[in-house]
Amino acid sequence: MKRIIVFLGAPGAGKGTAAAAVAPKVGARHVSTGAMLRDAVARGTPAGLEAKSYMDAGGLVPDAVLYRMVSELLAGEKDGATLFFDGFPRNEAQAAELESLAAAGGAKVESAILLDVSRETLLARLGGRRVCPKCGAGYHVQSLPPKKDGICDACGAQLTIRADDQPATIAHRLEVYESATAPVIGFYEKAGTLRRIDASGSASEVAALVQAAV
Ligand SMILES: [Zn+2]
Repeated sequence: MKRIIVFLGAPGAGKGTAAAAVAPKVGARHVSTGAMLRDAVARGTPAGLEAKSYMDAGGLVPDAVLYRMVSELLAGEKDGATLFFDGFPRNEAQAAELESLAAAGGAKVESAILLDVSRETLLARLGGRRVCPKCGAGYHVQSLPPKKDGICDACGAQLTIRADDQPATIAHRLEVYESATAPVIGFYEKAGTLRRIDASGSASEVAALVQAAV
């Protein structure tokens, strides 16, 4: 049996960071949806080629193609493998479909790890990000401040806030998460496989809690 562990959390909860940090420590493979797509396209798998035709046309990859990609991925894994899914399932329909894909692929969704963070913490994390428009260096007003307020340490340029991190955009990203992904939490809660992790601490504290839970 192959094990699937699903990572859930709002934007800014740090699920990708935690999954990437813990995977090598427990012999798991971290599968972000973006990386899975790029890999399938690069390897030219049937689902990858189909996804590429949508991406080349500037469109979104439909769920049906995404599902075939997950099937291909599961088929390529050995028995006993552990996969950390990060970014999939993104809604309740995908969560239900993943159960079928897993069963067909000799796998089981063992648990869903929810990185729980208060809205205030998410807003502070996302709203505190700064980026250097000249050299691309990233900063955070609280956790990774530049030496001089608002100025890039590396090149001296004025730091800016990415469009994605503007307050109105952040609020929208959190709303999208609430409406689409929050039902996924209920799905795994009902299945009795949801594990809530307090993700308000530092990245290394969160990684330690996640490692203990998987
Ligand atoms: Zn710079």
